[in-house]
Amino acid sequence: MSTIFSKIVAGEIPARIVYEDETTVAFLDANPLAPGHTLVIPREEYERLNDVPEDVATDLYATIHRLVPAVEDAVDADASTVAFNNGEAAGQEVPHVHCHIVPRFEGDGGGPIHGVAGDPPSLEDDELDEIADDIESRT
Ligand code: AMP
Repeated sequence: MSTIFSKIVAGEIPARIVYEDETTVAFLDANPLAPGHTLVIPREEYERLNDVPEDVATDLYATIHRLVPAVEDAVDADASTVAFNNGEAAGQEVPHVHCHIVPRFEGDGGGPIHGVAGDPPSLEDDELDEIADDIESRT
């Protein structure tokens, strides 16, 4: 057990836990981007989504599904951004899979998730076809 989130799961460091079950835990982010900013994690430590077994992924999504309306309603949000930073290059700092539920409000000054990547690439149809085929072949 090494991540700070595993220490929260073990009760070794405090957190504002808002939901827990056999497989998952949800707690308030310590540095909230908005009131109600919540993190949902698997109890077990997996670094990336790619590492999460299918049964745990199912439970993780069930908790996200339960928490999104609860979080939005609790802070009277208009919407929410729900996202994973999946890997260091994508901005993941804690190497224990976590879903951010960030409540959003009309006129809050934030942007859509389209703003997270760098300059958008210009791809020809044949390149798009090749990428789509490659992804399909790996599923
Ligand atoms: P990420 O950049 O996706 O890895 O996000 C990590 C998140 O964990 C950040 O939003 C931090 O504010 C949050 N965080 C770090 N330590 C704690 C903690 N002890 N309790 C709650 N949230 C934390």
